[in-house]
Parts: sequence; structure tokens; C-alpha cells
Amino acid sequence: LVSRKKKPENTVIDIKGAKVGNGNTSYVFGPCAVESYEQVAAVAESVKSKGLKLLRGGAFKPRTSPYDFQGLGVEGLQILKRVADEYDLAVISEIVNPAHIEEAVDYIDVIQIGARNMQNFELLKAAGDTNKPVLLKRGLSATISEFINAAEYIISRGNGNIILCERGIRTYEKATRNTLDISAVPILKQETHLPVMVDVTHSTGRRDLLLPTAKAALAIGADGVMAEVHPDPAVALSDSAQQMDIPTFDIFFEELKGIENRLK
Ligand code: PEP
Ligand code: MN
Repeated sequence: LVSRKKKPENTVIDIKGAKVGNGNTSYVFGPCAVESYEQVAAVAESVKSKGLKLLRGGAFKPRTSPYDFQGLGVEGLQILKRVADEYDLAVISEIVNPAHIEEAVDYIDVIQIGARNMQNFELLKAAGDTNKPVLLKRGLSATISEFINAAEYIISRGNGNIILCERGIRTYEKATRNTLDISAVPILKQETHLPVMVDVTHSTGRRDLLLPTAKAALAIGADGVMAEVHPDPAVALSDSAQQMDIPTFDIFFEELKGIENRLK
């Protein structure tokens, strides 16, 4: 059902009035993890001032070590909802457990399924049973075909509001956290009718590479870019090395808008 052979037109996803896909360039910014109301509000204010609509933030964090910050859970979702209501934004947050979906949909506008859960089939089915848009990230070492099949799990349950997100794959290369598979973007767009975004934060793991990879994403035809922004990355409870502070975010966005306009 995700195949372009079945449906030649691009899917457009409406997230509280923000259209994703089919020639619209979308941006998803926000902190790695929700840490406090003040922290999320500071980023939301900056997102809002840029005329953007989508805010991300993790409440359930899938961390490599069990001793690292695991996220604020439902309290984090409540903070996101409060900020979204105050700033008239739509929120995207990762859900890691099918049992949390029912409660989470009251707080969030887009269900993110993270790389580690791309083949958590029960989670995919549970997300497919809702009518919420789903941002599905490519697995750490998933092939494009496996990625497309994961999206098929969601659409097969009746929910076709899926955004695919390339976020880098594991290779032998150590200069970046993952290897951004930029060619996945046009392949996914040829093979499916779904919008495709690129997460430049988790793919590169390097603040100095966020802008060049984001430019590449737009140039190759991605429908949007995701990046992490934190008011004070040095004290962030996760992904401290790659989140942008707000002045850096301002420059990043201005440059990216310049590229977006040149590509039109
Ligand atoms: C995230 O976006 O917060 C995240 C954990 O990313 P990924 O699942 O791509 O590692
Ligand atoms: Mn992160």
C-alpha cells in the first residue's frame, strides 16, 4: 500500500494545518529530550518566531545505557502539550511501548517511532491502529526494503499518514555517529508515495555537519529536515554534542531557507 505503483500521487499529511509532503518543505526542531517546561518553551518560542509549526521533544528516551537519562515519560508529554497549546504548535514525540499509545495520543500530534523500534512490529501495528500521523525513522542497520516494510505494517492497519525519516545507518565509518544515506531519499520517494525527511542530528552526530547535510537533504528532494535544538546544549541530559543552541539555530535556519528559496 505504500508503493508508488499503487498510488502515483504524493501523500500529503496535515498536522494541525501544517502540510507535509508534495513539494512543501517542512522542518522539525526541538530538543532531544524534554527536560523542563522552561527548556521546551525556550525552543518553542524560537520555532514559533520562524513561522514554523512542528516541535519535537523526547519524553520516552531509548538510551543505549540503562544508567543514562530515560526521559520524563508522561510528565514530558504533558509539558509538550502545554507548550504546544501556548505557542500553537504541533508536537512530535517518540513512543516506545504499544501500551503507551492510547494515553500518548491525547498529548501529541505525531507519533515518532525511533530507529531502535523500526521493527517493533507490535508498536507499528498499534500506531497503525490510530489516526495520528506517524514519523517512522529508519532502523540502525535497516535496509531500504526493510524500512518500507515497516511503513507497510502501519498502513496495513489503516493509517497511511506516515512520514519516513532517514537518520543514518551504521557502517564502519567512525567520523560521524552514523552514515547519512542521502541516496535513500530519492529511492524512498521513487518507491513510495510518502513524504521523506532527513534527521541531520542523529545521522551525523556532529554540530558542524548539520547545515551541510541539511542543504544536501533539500537539494536531493527531501520533504523536510529534522534537527535538535536546546537552549544550553552543554548541560543537555542527552545528545549534548550535537544539539544547536538558539543563536546557532537562527543562523542554521536562515541559511537553509536561503537554499530552499534557491531550489524553488
Ligand atoms: C530521536 O529522534 O530522539 C532519536 C532517538 O532518534 P533515533 O531513533 O533516530 O536514534
Ligand atoms: Mn537526540
